Amino acid sequence: MQESSTILETFRRWAFGNVRVTRVLELPPTPFDPAMFIQATRREILEHRDWLCPSFATEDGDIILHFQAFIIEAGGKRIMVDPCIGNDKPRGHPLLDRLDNPFLARLERAGFPRESIDFVLCTHLHVDHCGWNTMLVDGRWVPTFPNARYLFAREEVAYAAADMAEEAKAIFEDSVQPILDAGLAELVEPDHMIVEGVRLKPTPGHTPGHCSIFISSEGAEAIISGDVIHHPLQAALPHVCSNFCWDEERAIATRRAMLAHACDNDAMMLVAHFAGSSGVYVRRHGDAWKVEES
Ligand SMILES: [Zn+2]
Repeated sequence: MQESSTILETFRRWAFGNVRVTRVLELPPTPFDPAMFIQATRREILEHRDWLCPSFATEDGDIILHFQAFIIEAGGKRIMVDPCIGNDKPRGHPLLDRLDNPFLARLERAGFPRESIDFVLCTHLHVDHCGWNTMLVDGRWVPTFPNARYLFAREEVAYAAADMAEEAKAIFEDSVQPILDAGLAELVEPDHMIVEGVRLKPTPGHTPGHCSIFISSEGAEAIISGDVIHHPLQAALPHVCSNFCWDEERAIATRRAMLAHACDNDAMMLVAHFAGSSGVYVRRHGDAWKVEES
């Protein structure tokens, strides 16, 4: 399928010392009622409209979200982080159900044919972070990235495997189990070093085994933060949780610690669901923070 030149084709790239990161979107930026995703109202969004609009919110108080993956290039390796929702997967929500997106073609045009990926990494195993782990071929779910090692945090796999909710079971069966069966999975500890300058750190709360990727090279620092934060409003109101958190108290503590770290160390945060440039710097704002697009 040929796509016109839309924001979906606007690849963004950042360099942090010797590490390069590229963003590839799966869905176009989409406005939602905030209550669908986070415990906040349109009124609270509009109280922060001076720095949330137009990239992160509409003038009506809807939040704008992205669904996207980040690809890290470091030490001669290519690391796919959080491979989105995926195609053909039967899901309960219409936003996610049986998608038919040219994500892989888009990835290839950004310079990353699926065969060229060396590692796949999911910050956690929710539906929108592990979908492209697999793709449907002749009625079977097969690994999308056949030459990659898939790094899963041991605790996250145990948590996801034990979740008996119908939707969670379906996600595990079509997006995780085929990777285990193919022998491509490596269960790692949450402080695993992937390559020089790129390491996992545990950031629990949204899920128990949630990890973030800390990049550090030649004095530059960046964090790919998964779902530690869903929307920039949560920088100003860190107590606001998503509707999908496993342990809200821990999620809040993790979010506060990460925002403080990013602010104090001038580390860029690259955030799974942030719209606009998706890469932000965290600045002090009253007794909390706000973000500035890179
Ligand atoms: Zn998510």
